[in-house]
Amino acid sequence: MDLTTQALSALDRDRLDASLATLIRIPSVVGTEAEVEVAEYLADQWELDGLEVTRHDLPLTTIRSHEDYPGEEVVRTRAMSVTATYGNDDGPHILLLGHTDVVPIGDIDAWSADPFSGDITIVDGKRIIFGRGTCDMKAGMAAVWEAVRAVLAVDGIKKGRLTIASVCGEEDGGLGTFGLIQAGVRADVCIIAEPTSLAIVPANAGALTFRLTVLGKAIHASRKSEGVSAFEKFLPIHEALQKLELERNADPDALFERWNFPFALSIGTIHAGDWSSSVPGKLVAEGRIGVRPDETVEQAKQTLERVIADMCAVDPWLAAHPILVEWPGGMFAPGNTDILSAPVQMLQRAHNDQNGSDPQIYGAPYGSDLRLWNRAGVPTVQYGPGDVTYAHTADEFVDLDETFAAAQTFVRLIVNELG
Ligand SMILES: [Zn+2]
Repeated sequence: MDLTTQALSALDRDRLDASLATLIRIPSVVGTEAEVEVAEYLADQWELDGLEVTRHDLPLTTIRSHEDYPGEEVVRTRAMSVTATYGNDDGPHILLLGHTDVVPIGDIDAWSADPFSGDITIVDGKRIIFGRGTCDMKAGMAAVWEAVRAVLAVDGIKKGRLTIASVCGEEDGGLGTFGLIQAGVRADVCIIAEPTSLAIVPANAGALTFRLTVLGKAIHASRKSEGVSAFEKFLPIHEALQKLELERNADPDALFERWNFPFALSIGTIHAGDWSSSVPGKLVAEGRIGVRPDETVEQAKQTLERVIADMCAVDPWLAAHPILVEWPGGMFAPGNTDILSAPVQMLQRAHNDQNGSDPQIYGAPYGSDLRLWNRAGVPTVQYGPGDVTYAHTADEFVDLDETFAAAQTFVRLIVNELG
C-alpha cells in the first residue's frame, strides 16, 4: 500500500462526526467566553495528537492600536488563536486554517432543533448535522483535524511542515488571523476550509459598512411645506445608490460572473423621525458596499462619497446641509490569489486525485481572512465542505459525507506535498 492509500484508510468517519459534534456543542458565538473555550479545547486535543501547540493569547491593546487593525464588532476582553505544527524544514510549509467563532443564532423560534445540540440526523437520505457553525465553519475545521490525525497515524509527513490553526474573531473582521500574522506566523501556502461546496475560491470581494446622516428640518406634519423631510431627501439618494450598484456590478471579472451582484450595495438599517405626525428632521441609514477585487478600499469609499456629494450639489437644501458619510464597523478589503499559484495547483491535484474531476474555481462575493494572509505574503485560497447559502441562517447544516470528502482531499494534499 502506498502512503496515500494508508493515510486514507486511517481516516475515521465516526471520529470525524464526533469531533464536529463536540465543536458544535461549544457555543462559540463571536465575543462570548466560549470563543476562547473552543480554542482551548482544540489546543488540548491537538497536544494529545502529538502536535507542537502554541496558544496565542492575543495582546488586544497592542493589536487594537495597530494601523492595520481589522476592527471588531463585539466587546472582547480576551481572544485566543491556536497553531499546531508538525514536520521539518526540508520542504514546503502548508497552513490549513479554520475560524471557530460563529455568528449569533438569531431568532431561536426560527430553528427546528437546538442550534447547539450537535445531533446527527438523516434528511432525504443524507447524513447531516444541524447547528450554528456546522457549515461556517466547524465542519471545515473538523475535516482538517481528521486529515491530520490520519496522516500522523501513518507517519505521512516526511519533507516539510504542516501547521493547522484555529482562529477567533473572523466573523467581525479578522482579529484572530491578524493576531497570528502579528505574532509572526507564516507559511508558503494557506488553505482556509471555509464552506465552498468543495470548489476552490481564490478571490473574495471586499465589504465596507457605511453610515449616512441626512439632516432635514422637523416641523408639525400639518405645516409640512415649511419643514424639510430628511426621509424625502433620502429617497433620490437611495435611487442614486441603486444606480451605482448596477454600474459597479455590470462587468465583473470572470471569476465573479456567476453572481448577479458580486459587489452588492445595500441599505441594512434606516432610522428617521420620532413621531408619526412630525416631519422627520434626521435620517440615519447604514449599509454595506462591496469592494471589487480591482480596487482598493479607499477607492470604493471615494466612489460612494462622490455619488453622495454630487447628489448634494444639485439640491439647494442638501448643498447647504451636506449628508455626512461615515465608515464604522468591520472593513473587509478584497483579496485575490493568482489562479496559477501553488495553493490552487495543490488543491486541483488533490481534488482531482480524489474525485476524478476538476473542482470549480470562482470568486466569492464576501470577505474572509484570505485577504489578510495574502497581504502578509502567504498565497491563500478557500476550499471546504458546506454550502455557504446555509451559513448564518436558522437551521444551518452541513452534509457529513461532504465533510468526509473534504478530509480525504486534505489527506491527499498533505501526502502529495509533504509525504
Ligand atoms: Zn466563515
